[in-house]
Amino acid sequence: MPSNKSVSDAQIFQFTNCRILRSHQLQREDLWVREGKILNPEKLFFDEKGSADIQLDCKDSIIAPGFIDVQINGGFGVDFSLATDDVQSGISLVSQKILSHGVTSFCPTLVTSPPAVYHKVLPQISIRNGGPHGAGILGAHLEGPFISKEKKGAHPEHYLSTFELGAFQDLLATYRHLDCVRIVTLAPEMKRSSEVIQELTRRGICVSLGHSVANLSQAEEAVRHGATFITHLFNAMLPFHHRDPGIVGLLTSDQIPSRRRVFYGMISDGIHTNPAALRIAHRAHPKGLVLVTDAIAGMGLAPGRHTLGQQVVEVDGLNTYIAGTRTLSGSVATMDSCVRHFLEATGCTVETALEAASLHPAQLLGIEHRKGTLNYDNDADFLLLDNSLHVRATYIAGERVWSQDTFTI
Ligand SMILES: [Zn+2]
Repeated sequence: MPSNKSVSDAQIFQFTNCRILRSHQLQREDLWVREGKILNPEKLFFDEKGSADIQLDCKDSIIAPGFIDVQINGGFGVDFSLATDDVQSGISLVSQKILSHGVTSFCPTLVTSPPAVYHKVLPQISIRNGGPHGAGILGAHLEGPFISKEKKGAHPEHYLSTFELGAFQDLLATYRHLDCVRIVTLAPEMKRSSEVIQELTRRGICVSLGHSVANLSQAEEAVRHGATFITHLFNAMLPFHHRDPGIVGLLTSDQIPSRRRVFYGMISDGIHTNPAALRIAHRAHPKGLVLVTDAIAGMGLAPGRHTLGQQVVEVDGLNTYIAGTRTLSGSVATMDSCVRHFLEATGCTVETALEAASLHPAQLLGIEHRKGTLNYDNDADFLLLDNSLHVRATYIAGERVWSQDTFTI
């Protein structure tokens, strides 16, 4: 009889006694893994006549794809927007610590900063796979400086910028390095933004609309030019108005290309968005909802004073304010807590809550053929969770990279 080794020498793992999230449903099936990828057991049985080398009892866990955080400014005392000589070690610390919150890939995010900060920090960020060393890095998210003064939120006004004669060249002069950049948040009402959106899109960089006073038609035009994301919906944009719903109106717009799906980030921490507003967004456009933490350096630490780029931030419980003001500035929420809050606030299904932190961000970045699902041949980045969606263990490329002390399999 042919052995397991006919195709590959790698060990075959069979995760049993679990419900796995596949095709938008929790299904009582086993999860098979080989060489860091999800394996199709039918091919294994019938084509290779193979079987598992190692069986693991998941103790009735839910298995979901690893979470993907496309907006995280730092955490555990690290602020990605600070220009140090050793950005790598800060990113490494955060990437290691977020494993316990179920994040297996992320986009380190920089808030509006002087050009010198981008010039120093961006060359030190490299796209890399995850593993025992920490979550994978999908590329940087640059939020600003091409945003609206009126909706600057926690961004320092002094460093905001506009597109002048150079348009895209102005952006290039500001950031200098685009190799590692995955997402740029900008305000679409700025003059010459259309050219910039088209050029970023042409280069495969995702354009997100945010910190903006754009009306709906300006937002629709930006989408027609290639924008696909909205940065933290409701926060730092015009409030919904029935005669001109602004960027929020993109959720139900019929003036955008028919096959184009607009995604939108939600900070589901119970602070940034009232649960009723979260429900409105979710019910209007469930397939576009992407949970983000927008976490800052204070995430994972005791309340106190921390930085967000050039600003000082006061953290009090789950509230984060620019020191001496009531301006919200990022969150201290973790991704797993955002998933649980979203589930509770909207009354959605467990599947829906999990997909908002995995499938949807993967689709936004166009990487759903590799990450964000448990489909066959995808990267075996996944989580074991209990029924209340607390993370029991985190796996990257089939390898356990974190687990609760009390959970052994
Ligand atoms: Zn923001």
